[in-house]
Amino acid sequence: MTEQFSRAYWEQRLAGLSLARGHFIDGKVEPARSGRTFTRTRPMDGKPGAVLAQGDVQDVDLAVASARKAFASGVWRGREPLEKKKVMLRWAELIRAHGEELALLETLDVGKPVQASLGVDVRLCADGIQYYGEMIDKMYDEIAPTGPKARALVRKVPLGVIAAITPWNYPMIIDAWKLGPAIAAGNSVVLKPAEQSSLSALKLAELAVEAGLPVGVFNVVTGFGEEVGKPLALHQDVDMVAFTGSTEVGKLVMGYAAQSNLKRVALELGGKSPLVVFEDADLDAAASAAAWGCFYNSGETCHAATRLVVQRSVQDELIGKIEAVVKREIALAHPFEPSAQIGALIEAEHMEKVLGLIATGEKDGGRRAFGAERVLSETGGYYVSPGVITDVTNDMRIARQEIFGPVLAAIAFDTEEEALAIANDTIYGLAGAVFTRDMDRAHRFSESIHAGTVWINTYDMSNFATPFGGFKQSGFGRDRSVHAIDKYCDYKTIWQQFN
Ligand code: NAD
Repeated sequence: MTEQFSRAYWEQRLAGLSLARGHFIDGKVEPARSGRTFTRTRPMDGKPGAVLAQGDVQDVDLAVASARKAFASGVWRGREPLEKKKVMLRWAELIRAHGEELALLETLDVGKPVQASLGVDVRLCADGIQYYGEMIDKMYDEIAPTGPKARALVRKVPLGVIAAITPWNYPMIIDAWKLGPAIAAGNSVVLKPAEQSSLSALKLAELAVEAGLPVGVFNVVTGFGEEVGKPLALHQDVDMVAFTGSTEVGKLVMGYAAQSNLKRVALELGGKSPLVVFEDADLDAAASAAAWGCFYNSGETCHAATRLVVQRSVQDELIGKIEAVVKREIALAHPFEPSAQIGALIEAEHMEKVLGLIATGEKDGGRRAFGAERVLSETGGYYVSPGVITDVTNDMRIARQEIFGPVLAAIAFDTEEEALAIANDTIYGLAGAVFTRDMDRAHRFSESIHAGTVWINTYDMSNFATPFGGFKQSGFGRDRSVHAIDKYCDYKTIWQQFN
């Protein structure tokens, strides 16, 4: 349990914060070479937030050069594993020690409840850095089977300079999912956070240097996708791009890699995950999982359970229970309120997109069961209440397009065959779930849903030991777990012949 702080406490901390930031390149805070800045708008009240360096190709070149210099010098990858581990563990501790500040920065940028930023995002970010720090002195290379006349070492070596491009929904957590394994493997990183959420990334970089990470191993360039992300992904001296974001931009990133130096690409992309409920399920458990699985973080979650695929006989009862969970447990409020379980959406344009998709859902024949409307508009912030659109069919836009808002589309089915067809009828394959008391069916179903993660009678449970990522157009490559290290490394064979 994290400590609860009052709204006044956070207001006071905010009043003491200066919010002008530069890039973080070669261990120093740097303005954009062009001198340009941009101002972030706070989702919680529509007021101006941080003023950030607006990067472009010149800043990207400097950051990549710094990362390359650090990598080539061996100042990090060549260090004793035990020493490297200590640096990363120190970094994780510093993240925890600066948890309140990081949580405040994340909430200012993203609009999520500050208690969630502190209790979930900061915690998981620190845990992620620690997890990979702990791996550093436990990784072995291999000796391949050869005859007695030769010895072949199969070494796992870092790739070099990694570009990490990340989204705004869980900035700190997703940054850690990339920084942890990439840096533990010995690479240097240039991180481009989403333009909506740069503050926590800049703080993480400052803390990394304080922990003893050599300068140049971790740089941050802030700015827009076209101006910073694109030149990074096109850069001839970047060896890999680890991207998390929309499927649309993921496709562009893959194209940039192909057009430039064939850098490796890992893509963690969008989703439209099904949560399938059979009539024999524990409906209270299913309702709780559906509500939290879709509405947590205001639905701004790549694996949010946005399609409720429910057996027709229990549809109304289940939706009634979901509404009861929302009323009882999922308070929507200003993100500094201790009671807030969900806060604001990321920006006005995104809120309009969510409201537009709800309207299209209704126009196409869906029926609003409850919620799914703009609220708290008098605050100037971007709040949409959690809600369910029922009578949806899987061909409607609200069932096909990622909504990234707190809105569940309920789709009824009659047979198991039909349920599976609906669950898999999507371009995405990030996650899914099945609720049933029939364990044979649970296993049959979980094997047949084509997604990177499938839950049985629960939703969104995970830990660092489990890989996370998608099938189909949800991307490829996995974050988390020991396997995430692999994508930041390559195999190198060293063959020695004896006479
Ligand atoms: P986005 O694709 O718009 O942006 C992601 C990042 O790419 C940002 O840093 C952005 O500035 C950058 N970018 C934009 N245009 C670019 C270009 N032309 N070249 C290079 N970089 C560019 O996504 P978003 O709106 O920030 O985040 C939401 C999306 O992220 C959703 O689709 C969500 O499902 C996905 N997501 C996926 C996962 C996962 O693990 N699969 C996790 C979180 C979010």
